[in-house]
Amino acid sequence: MAYFIYQNFPNQSVKIHRGDCCFCNNGIGLQRNILGDANGRWFLSLGNGYLTYQVASEVAQQLALQMGIESQDCLVCNSSIQR
Ligand SMILES: [Zn+2]
Repeated sequence: MAYFIYQNFPNQSVKIHRGDCCFCNNGIGLQRNILGDANGRWFLSLGNGYLTYQVASEVAQQLALQMGIESQDCLVCNSSIQR
């Protein structure tokens, strides 16, 4: 299981998703990224996602810090819960 981070610019949020989350779809998301990076962007690490929640969380916190916010876990996939 890999973890992915989505940085959303309009909503000012940084969320951590599990790869199998319906919103994440292993970093592809719900729809093709027709707006390019204007709306937001996925952080895919090396394309395969982050191997542990801890690593993803550290990266997400750094991104969020740059935006002046706090990173969040996705409420759909509850990314911080080990399964
Ligand atoms: Zn999710």
